Amino acid sequence: MITEYITMTEEAIDRAAIEKAGQILQAGGLVAFPTETVYGLGGDALNPESSRKIYAAKGRPSDNPLIVHICRMEDLAPIVRDIPDEALRLAEACWPGPLTMIFHKSDLVPPETTGGLDTVAVRFPSNRIAMALIAAAGGYIAAPSANRSGRPSPTLARYCREDLDGRVEMIIDGGPVGIGLESTIIDLTEGQPVILRPGYVTQERLEQILGRVETDRAIIEPDSGTAPKAPGMKYRHYAPKGSLTIVEGGREAVITYINARTRECREKGIRTGVICTDETCRCYTADSVKSAGARTSGETIASRLFRILREFDDEEIQVMFSESFGEGGLGQAIMNRLMKAAGHKIVQV
Ligand code: AMP
Ligand code: MG
Repeated sequence: MITEYITMTEEAIDRAAIEKAGQILQAGGLVAFPTETVYGLGGDALNPESSRKIYAAKGRPSDNPLIVHICRMEDLAPIVRDIPDEALRLAEACWPGPLTMIFHKSDLVPPETTGGLDTVAVRFPSNRIAMALIAAAGGYIAAPSANRSGRPSPTLARYCREDLDGRVEMIIDGGPVGIGLESTIIDLTEGQPVILRPGYVTQERLEQILGRVETDRAIIEPDSGTAPKAPGMKYRHYAPKGSLTIVEGGREAVITYINARTRECREKGIRTGVICTDETCRCYTADSVKSAGARTSGETIASRLFRILREFDDEEIQVMFSESFGEGGLGQAIMNRLMKAAGHKIVQV
């Protein structure tokens, strides 16, 4: 298959290209497109054949359900069995935006889209290219992140090309995404709302809207032996090609430890990288040192993380170390992605 590339911005949407992309989707084809979180790999959510193609293009295990993207509030009711009051409050406060809610699904949604579950994940993104595309596709796009399974999620169209060239009909380049981490996923099907995947919408924010909100225990304690409720959370994810270790401790101890390890690697001819912050980036001696942003700017760190992991791959870095980023605010989502990228390798110094 030859992939067609289209470029546009949210301010200047190419209507003709969106119409064409919509036709591709309605005919059962695949289109990668920008959202405010990361790039998505879209197919018609109501067509089981499209969902099968998404799994094949990504190389994704088929028990890992897809998120259904909508662009109008009135399109929610037909795909879910009921809309709890909490969902209406969350939608009012957070949609369009980076929040995914889990509902009991209606018969309209094929089991291929939900990995066989009788629940469905729904999101209403705020990116205007995404909204125009969803409307052109008939209202429902199933879209996981537009990376090959296991790779860091794409924050630039270039990374969709790296992973999906020749596997999808079209890639829409809408420039760099704003947020850079996937949506927060909240389960509303069991009474007590539970966060299944931390994201840009923090637990603090959700609690302001709903009162008490819990986080899936499997996320807080990855070694607890509890299976995560979002099937995707159990897989190795976001993984760079080299090995990544998170180093936690006081600032000087972390710098000393990482510099000692990268020096040892250099003596063996191994290429090294460090993920750090603006405050510390001049202290490291690795081959490639990348600041994710100021330590207090969770938003910047979130937006750069996946890109840094991909850049290390391009630079053929074999051994990487990262500072830790704390748990407050966006820290929980950042550390969740970083821990997965590191395969939970963490050192306390
Ligand atoms: P991605 O679109 O690549 O960000 O992955 C979608 C995430 O949503 C995966 O972690 C899935 O396991 C999760 N997900 C999708 N649908 C459901 C569902 N019905 N119940 C629980 N988790 C879901
Ligand atoms: Mg993904």
